[in-house]
Amino acid sequence: MKMMEEKLKIVKITKGTVIDHIDAGYALTILNLTGLDEVKNLITIGVNVSSKKFSTKDIIKIENVFLNETQMQQISILSPNATISLIEDNNVIEKKKVKIPNTIKKLILCVNQTCISNSEKEPIDTEFLVLEEKPLKIQCIYCERICKLEEIVFTSKEKKEKIVKQRILL
Ligand SMILES: [Zn+2]
Repeated sequence: MKMMEEKLKIVKITKGTVIDHIDAGYALTILNLTGLDEVKNLITIGVNVSSKKFSTKDIIKIENVFLNETQMQQISILSPNATISLIEDNNVIEKKKVKIPNTIKKLILCVNQTCISNSEKEPIDTEFLVLEEKPLKIQCIYCERICKLEEIVFTSKEKKEKIVKQRILL
C-alpha cells in the first residue's frame, strides 16, 4: 500500500522522459550537470522515494523532452542503476537501462592540470578507463590520475564551471 501512495505522489506525464532508479540524492546533480535544469518544460522531481529494489531512489520526469546520447552517458556515470523511459501518448514506448562504458571518451576533463589532455598547445580528447562503477573510480589513460565521482568535471562547454556536488542529504 505504501508503494502505491508513493507512486501517486509523482504525477504522470503524457509525453517526455522518465529517469527512474537514480541513486537517492542525485536527482538535482543530474539535472544540473546534464543541462536539463535549463529547459523550460515542466520537470517533476522525486527525491528519496521508497523503492522495491533499493531502499530509496530519486525520479525525474520531464515533459516533452527526450535525452541526447551525451546526457544519457552523463547519467550512466552519475547513477549507473538509472533507467530511462520515453513516453508518448501516456505509454512507455521505450525503456532502457543506462550503461556505463568501459572507457569514457571526450566527456570528462582530467583534473590534473599538467595532463597532456589539458595542454593548450596540442589539445587531445580525454579518455578514461572505468576501474569501478560504484563508487565510481576512473583513470586518465594519459597521466594515470585516478578520479572519483565528486571530482568529475564534464566537458560540455556551457557547463565547464560546474562540478559534481556532494550528494544532497535531505
Ligand atoms: Zn590526465
